[in-house]
Amino acid sequence: MTTESRTSGGARNQIVTTIRQWVQRDVIPLSMKYERDGIYPRELVEQMKGMGLFGLNVPQEYGGLGLDYTTFAMVFEEIAKGWMAVCGVIGSHHIMTHIVVHGGTQEQRQRWMPRMSRGELRGGLALTEPNAGSDVQAIQTRAVRQGDGYVINGTKMFVTNGLHGDAVALLAVTDPAAQPRYRGFSCLIAEKGPGFTVGRELDKLGYRGVDTCELIFTDYRCPADSLVGEKEGEGFRHVLSALEGGRINIAARSVGIATAALEAAIRYAQERQTFGKPIAQHQAIQLMLADMATKVQAARLLTYEAARRKDSGERVDLEAGMAKLFASEVCQQVALDAMRVFGGYGYMKDLPIERYYRDAPLMIIGEGTNEIQRLVIARQLLQRYQI
Ligand SMILES: Cc1cc2nc3c(=O)[nH]c(=O)nc-3n(C[C@H](O)[C@H](O)[C@H](O)COP(=O)(O)OP(=O)(O)OC[C@H]3O[C@@H](n4cnc5c(N)ncnc54)[C@H](O)[C@@H]3O)c2cc1C
Repeated sequence: MTTESRTSGGARNQIVTTIRQWVQRDVIPLSMKYERDGIYPRELVEQMKGMGLFGLNVPQEYGGLGLDYTTFAMVFEEIAKGWMAVCGVIGSHHIMTHIVVHGGTQEQRQRWMPRMSRGELRGGLALTEPNAGSDVQAIQTRAVRQGDGYVINGTKMFVTNGLHGDAVALLAVTDPAAQPRYRGFSCLIAEKGPGFTVGRELDKLGYRGVDTCELIFTDYRCPADSLVGEKEGEGFRHVLSALEGGRINIAARSVGIATAALEAAIRYAQERQTFGKPIAQHQAIQLMLADMATKVQAARLLTYEAARRKDSGERVDLEAGMAKLFASEVCQQVALDAMRVFGGYGYMKDLPIERYYRDAPLMIIGEGTNEIQRLVIARQLLQRYQI
């Protein structure tokens, strides 16, 4: 698959405007109650299907919208401004579509992509295990070739869309003797069926409403052509390639949350009076708003730059890592600063400020923690500037 992709400015503006209007009209009104009660937003999922968001950057020949990563980032930013958890419904789904589009065979693309693009087959990524998160090479889930299929045993952890989704891109060990270990990993498309059970749905600080689960595979059988690509041992490479887009996605969500927090703070600072004037007239608040806005804009530009480079077909481990690292840290800082501006009201459940604050830390942890991002960035730097 060629990776270069461009969306015209007109098409990009149109979809971003459509998403912004949808978020204002349909997402924000539901967000407070659904988030508080942990309700899965079924109606929003149906609307996202209708807008084609499950095939956002799947090529049109496989039923997707075929949009580029810059537009992809802008769409995630807009949704996260309203309610970040809704991004989760399509976030890891897109990691799975990327794995199939770029790592799969033509037959696999034709088989899975149209259903996935329509949201009829909704997916996720099953990488993490109870004892293997950052240290992906420690995964233990085994896929053993038997007859015309694979038999899979193991447990996956923290899988978003594990309950409401239909399938996952599963990373499993196919050759336990391989050295280094990752050379023995393969990616399989595991559709729900006998032997594939949802262990438990996990309760969370934020990111509520979207499901995050433990998945248990017990003698789960899938056909041999569930193996992504033509040969075993390519799974780690497929996942790393998809995580580039995943990191742009997390950076964009971070920018969205931070923008919502910033804009709320700017509005509130002009309404709230202390000592006879709006708090926006106090220089301490002005300095805070200025720093918040500058950081958010820097995060946005890093995110768009990573997306732009990915659209030109480059590998962007460095740029996507930087964007994810910086934007997620900014998100956490700006969410807290917005709470400072709001004072006691920011801490209350009546306003979304406390939700921004609870949703922000996942941006630091997800798609590789920020400690791991720094290691990825440093590795890239040392490669690019090798003496
Ligand atoms: C809400 C939520 C949704 C998620 N969704 C998914 C999903 O859909 N699919 C999926 O596969 N996973 C998912 N994850 C898992 C997520 O990707 C992992 O939590 C993350 O990669 C960190 O792994 P860990 O939790 O095992 O932490 P650990 O790897 O145990 O790390 C613990 C701490 O040690 C640090 N650390 C680890 N190794 C090093 C090192 N070499 N140098 C320096 N510091 C280090 C980490 O940065 C962290 O601070 C999700 C997680 C959450 C919380």
